[in-house]
This record gives sequence, C-alpha cells and structure tokens, in this order.
Amino acid sequence: MSIKKALTVAGSDSGGGAGIQADLKTFQELGVYGMSVLTALTAQNTTGVYGVHPVPPEFVAQQMDAVLSDLGTNAVKTGMLFDSAIIETVARKLKEYGVPNYVLDPVMVAKGGAPLLLQEAVDAMKEHLLPLAMVVTPNLPEAELLTGMEKIETHEQMREAARILHEWGAQNVVIKGGHSTGDFATDLLYDGREFVELSAARFHTEHTHGTGCTFAAAITAGLASGKTVREAVEQAKQFITAAISHPLGIGHGHGPTNHWA
Ligand code: PLP
Repeated sequence: MSIKKALTVAGSDSGGGAGIQADLKTFQELGVYGMSVLTALTAQNTTGVYGVHPVPPEFVAQQMDAVLSDLGTNAVKTGMLFDSAIIETVARKLKEYGVPNYVLDPVMVAKGGAPLLLQEAVDAMKEHLLPLAMVVTPNLPEAELLTGMEKIETHEQMREAARILHEWGAQNVVIKGGHSTGDFATDLLYDGREFVELSAARFHTEHTHGTGCTFAAAITAGLASGKTVREAVEQAKQFITAAISHPLGIGHGHGPTNHWA
C-alpha cells in the first residue's frame, strides 16, 4: 500500500487551532501524509489575531516547487492566501504541476474580525482559483462576498449561491450553514446536477476556532485517499461535528476544536 499525501497552502496560527496547524493535525488523524506551504505567519491565540506577516510570493513559489517537484501530492487545499500576488502565484503553480483534487477554502476574515484576505484579492480568487477547484467551501459570509449576493439565509438562497459558484468554474460547491441560526447546521453540496443537504444537530458553543480549516482539510484528506467528493464531504462533516462537540477547554477565548474526537 502506498501512502497518500496531502498538501496545505495556508497561514500559520501560532495558537495551533486553525490554519496550517489544524490542517496537519487533521491530515494526520485521517491517515494521510501532510505537507505544508506557508503563505503568512500570524501572531494569534484563542483571543484574537495580533499580527500578520505575509510571506513574499517568490518564497511561496519556492516552497511549492520544493514540495511538488519531489514529493508530489494526491490532493491540495488552500486556506489563508492574504493578497492577490500570493493567489496568482499559487494558481500558477497548481497549473504548472497539474495538481489533482484541489480544495479551495476561501478564507477571508477570522472569527474575531481580523482580515485574512485583503479586499483587493477577492476578484483574484474568483478569477484564478475558482476555475481550478474540485471543491470550494465558503461559509455564508464568504459566499456573500464571492457571489455579491446581499444576504444568504434561506435554503433557496444557498442553492442560488452554489449555482453561481459552480457556473464560475468550481466543480463542486459546499456552502456551509454553520453561520445560520436554528437547531441544525445544514451544509449544502452541489455538483452541478443535484443538491445534497448534510445536516447535523447544532452544538451551541463558542469554541469553534479553526472549524473551517479543519473541515476543508478533512475533505482534502478524503480526496487524497481516493474517496469521491460526496464521501469525502460526508466524512468531513462527521469529523468536524465530533471535533466541535468535544471542546478541549483551553485558552481564554474561542477555543480550538478537538482533532482527537
Ligand atoms: N488564522 C489562520 C492562519 C487561518 O487560516 C484561519 C482560517 O480560517 C483562521 C485564523 C480563522 O480561524 P477562525 O475564524 O476559525 O477563528
């Protein structure tokens, strides 16, 4: 049996709950070999983001060359990309190496409000990365910013957003319902043909730091292992639901999810 590999291209969370650290923990738990290309460093803990130090695009390219020219990968995810120069670099390298199974987590704002993607970069993300994505995983505010839709609240509005993002080139769209209100956290998967709703009882907690990163990383690990998109998304939903419902109780703010759960 050959080992399956997954690459994350994302920012570092020094607190270990989100970003690169969450991705690598998730890859490890789901049995794939994890590799990482850093796009930005954050000085961060459970109470907030205190500083952001972006990596020069040429050095993002150098890291991607180092990983992809030697190890290769069965799947890749992108998280925090910060600016349009980094986005264009990452898109160029994904195409150059023909990287399969690309999961785009369109990270924009941290839960505490700190920007993780500059406003000028939203269009670059739509133009350069959406058309490469096997799966894109926006939450509701990210889906609003990407599509330009004013408010996405109802299931019909979620379907409309999914149709738009599919039309713009993403092969599969998962709109995450975690930011909605109600007793269920319902995500919507659209593959251009049918809509599948994935529902889980809402666990009322403040400790959801890193959920988006972890969910997208779990999808990436599933695709790297040879699962279909539907199977990978279903496994990721189970993984994140368990991670949220067994809080670790560390830090003084929004605590991290539990990758061991
Ligand atoms: N920090 C980094 C480096 C991230 O990649 C992310 C991912 O979304 C976050 C912070 C956001 O974490 P959250 O909004 O879950 O607190």
